[in-house]
Amino acid sequence: MSALTGHEAEVVGAVPTGLFIGGSWRDTEGSIDVEDPSTEETIATVADASPADGQDALAAAVAAQEGWAATEPRQRGEILRRAWELITAQADDLALLMTLENGKALKDARAEVAYGAEFFRWFSEEAVRISGRWSVAPAGDTRLLTMRQPVGPCLFITPWNFPLAMGTRKVGPAIAAGCTMVVKPARSTPLTMLRLAEILVEAGLPDGVLNVITTSSTGKVVEPLVRDGRLRKLSFTGSTEVGRSLVEQSAEQLLRVSMELGGNAPFVVFEDADVEAALDGAMVAKMRNGGEACTAANRFLVHESIADAFAAGLAERMGGLKVGRGSEDGADAGPLVDAPTLEKVTELVDDAAGRGAGVRTGGRRLGERGYFYAPTVLDQVPVDARILQEEVFGPVAPIVTFATDDEAVTAANDTPFGLVSYVYTNDLTRAVRVCERLDTGMIGLNQGIVSNPAAPFGGVKHSGFGREGGPEGIDEYLETKYIGLKL
Ligand code: NAP
Repeated sequence: MSALTGHEAEVVGAVPTGLFIGGSWRDTEGSIDVEDPSTEETIATVADASPADGQDALAAAVAAQEGWAATEPRQRGEILRRAWELITAQADDLALLMTLENGKALKDARAEVAYGAEFFRWFSEEAVRISGRWSVAPAGDTRLLTMRQPVGPCLFITPWNFPLAMGTRKVGPAIAAGCTMVVKPARSTPLTMLRLAEILVEAGLPDGVLNVITTSSTGKVVEPLVRDGRLRKLSFTGSTEVGRSLVEQSAEQLLRVSMELGGNAPFVVFEDADVEAALDGAMVAKMRNGGEACTAANRFLVHESIADAFAAGLAERMGGLKVGRGSEDGADAGPLVDAPTLEKVTELVDDAAGRGAGVRTGGRRLGERGYFYAPTVLDQVPVDARILQEEVFGPVAPIVTFATDDEAVTAANDTPFGLVSYVYTNDLTRAVRVCERLDTGMIGLNQGIVSNPAAPFGGVKHSGFGREGGPEGIDEYLETKYIGLKL
């Protein structure tokens, strides 16, 4: 076990570590170690579900579905509202828990707690706004009624990079809509979701509505659930590769599916932009969550006339960041999540440098214990560098230049991904024209962040389909039923 401080050990020790099925906590024979990426030490062990446990979790969700769908919308909303209040009241401890299992800097963890909780407040307000329609058929003899009903039992699979928010933006609308669910968090960061289950129980969520399973046999536990006719909806956040295989599996039962997948965000700075503002935005778009975000700026496309000033400014800011254990005072960035991620970031930087890119700052691992990598700026990155094609998922900013708007848009769209783009310009006409031509589900225009619980988050192309958040977020959990009424 690890050398956590007294309060850290208390926060970790308070988390239930079993499977949460049908309102009870269940132990398993085997267990999964949870590691602190700053120290590479085990800080907790959690239950390891078998495929039979997975079946039990789905059965609990199925058994609870009818009763939950019939619950008053106001009651569903108030459970979410109470959960938002409970999360907010213990934001510091939740943030610390997340930092310990994920590594992220405490300030990023605090921001995630606020962001993640906000999905509950937003959807507590949406729960009572689910409406239908009444209209007169064109021939006049029939009335057309529509009602919106919960899709049914859902399966949610979430990644490690935002252990709270990637869960709440599925769990929130599902609760609001009247769906039951099984949640499978990432094996490296299960503690936050287990704690969230406890909070939802305290907020009054009935048994069986939410079930949480942690497992090291992910494929073997998940696939039978996806192929099970009782499941009605799958929502996945994670890599494009896993998402694609889940979509294939989901075809068997023709499931409703939402896919929030990988990104390769371009950050485009035009020559008329306010360079200081673009640098501020670049730091957010690149370094929020230490660069481990699907929305992270992956390629900086900068007009050739300002590229050198931009690279110098970015190198100064990136080089000035304090990297350390996430819970250390003043840490701007923590370690990467695990050894394979550190290896991949190292490989991508070495590949770019080997092909002639300039390393303006960083470009190396920091220390030998923990998965720390120096914030890095690369300029004059050649077009064939792997870093321009692959998701970096780390604190590395590669810069390439362009000469014309057409060149910028072509380069921005030259990727199979389409989650988000960032555009900096003060020319309104250029802004509108460029936004209309970008093939991404979201655009940050003169800002380096798009995530907002009141907005529809989601991508196009290999970044997936479906939207989370905003009024659109609840649509993913509702079916429209139409009744033709003959007069
Ligand atoms: P990942 O490897 O795809 O894992 C995501 C989740 O899928 C984890 O819970 C994982 O479980 C599970 N999983 C892995 N293999 C599976 C299988 N064969 N069947 C079913 N589930 C399986 O992705 P990650 O590395 O954790 O997350 C990073 C990726 O997520 C990046 O590509 C990032 O862009 C994307 N992401 C997208 C969004 C978005 O909203 N678009 C948001 C955040 C992250 P285990 O932990 O047990 O492997």
